[in-house]
Amino acid sequence: MNSNLPFDFAIENYPLAPLTIYGVGGPARLALIPRTVDEAVQAYEWVGQQPGKRTVLGGGSNVLIDDAGYDGIVVVMSELNALEVLGNDRYRIESGVDLNQVVREIMLTNNYAMVGGLTGIPGTVGGAIYMNAGTVNGSTCMLMESVDVIGPEGRKLIPMHESLYSYRGQTFCPRGSLILQGFFKFSKTDEPQQPIYDHYIERRQRTQPQGKCCGSVFKNPQGDHSGRLIQAAGLMGTRCGGAVISDKHANFIMNDDNATSADIRQLIEIARTTVKEKFGITLEEEVVYIK
Ligand SMILES: Cc1cc2nc3c(=O)[nH]c(=O)nc-3n(C[C@H](O)[C@H](O)[C@H](O)COP(=O)(O)OP(=O)(O)OC[C@H]3O[C@@H](n4cnc5c(N)ncnc54)[C@H](O)[C@@H]3O)c2cc1C
Repeated sequence: MNSNLPFDFAIENYPLAPLTIYGVGGPARLALIPRTVDEAVQAYEWVGQQPGKRTVLGGGSNVLIDDAGYDGIVVVMSELNALEVLGNDRYRIESGVDLNQVVREIMLTNNYAMVGGLTGIPGTVGGAIYMNAGTVNGSTCMLMESVDVIGPEGRKLIPMHESLYSYRGQTFCPRGSLILQGFFKFSKTDEPQQPIYDHYIERRQRTQPQGKCCGSVFKNPQGDHSGRLIQAAGLMGTRCGGAVISDKHANFIMNDDNATSADIRQLIEIARTTVKEKFGITLEEEVVYIK
C-alpha cells in the first residue's frame, strides 16, 4: 500500500469503466473499496474531512462515467457482501450483495411475493435501494423494514415508510451519503413465483437489447413511456460515434462499438430535444452521471 493512502482499501487512479455495464469513462483520482460495514463507515467519515468531490458507486448498472474520469473520491460499495437470515422472513442484506442473488436465492427459494418487481434488474442491493429500482410490479423499498444510512447527520437506522420513496427515487439517502445495508421483510405467498420469474426473464430477452447499456436512459413521464416517445420521434437506430439508440427498445442507448461517454451524452441530448420539439414533453434522465 502507498503509505500516503488512508486505508488498505484505497487505490489511486482507479479505472471506473470496468465497474460499469456501459464500460465507458476514465479513472477516479481515488477509489475507496470497503469490504465491511465498519470499513464503509470509516471511509465515509474520512471522505467527509477531505476537500473536493465525492461520489458513490454500486454495481455500475445505472451510471455513465465521464470520459475524463472523476477528479475526486469514489466510494465503491460492491464488496459489502454479507447476508444474514434473521428469522420470520427477515434478512439483513449489505449494500454490495447482487440484487439477482436476492431474487433467486431468497425470494424464489422461499416463494416470497413480488418476484416480478425485481426480476432481471442488474446491480447491487444498495443501488437498488438508492434508485428504488423496480418495475410496474413493485419496487425495492416496498420490501424493506428499515435502512442503515450514513450521511451528513451521522449514521441512522431509518424505518421504511411509503412516504420516503417514489418512482425511481427516495428521500432518505441524499446523493453522496451511503446506504450501508437494508433490513428486508418478505411475505410468503401461495402464488408460485418461479413461473413469474421465468416470464419476466423471457420478456426482457425478447423486448430489451442485450449489451452494454444502463437500462432505461429516461424515466417514464406521467402516463406515457419514454421509449414510445423516442420511437415516435423516429430516433430508433440513430448513431453517434460508437453509440446507438437501440432499434429494439428506444429508451435504451447502447455502447455498440467502443462508444465514448460523450457519444452517449450526445444521443441523450438528441432524444431529449427531439421529443420536446415534437411532443412538448421534457424527458428526465434515470441514468446517473458521474463527472
Ligand atoms: C439491462 C438493464 C436493465 C435494467 N432494468 C431496470 C429495471 O427494470 N428497473 C429499474 O429500476 N432499473 C433497471 N435498470 C437500472 C439499474 O439496474 C438499477 O437502477 C440498479 O438498481 C442500480 O444499481 P447499481 O448497484 O448498479 O447502482 P449504480 O449504477 O452503481 O448507482 C446508481 C446510483 O445509486 C447510487 N448508489 C449505488 N450504491 C449506493 C449505496 N450503497 N449508497 C448510496 N448510493 C448508492 C450511485 O451513487 C448512483 O447515484 C436496468 C439496467 C440495465 C443495465
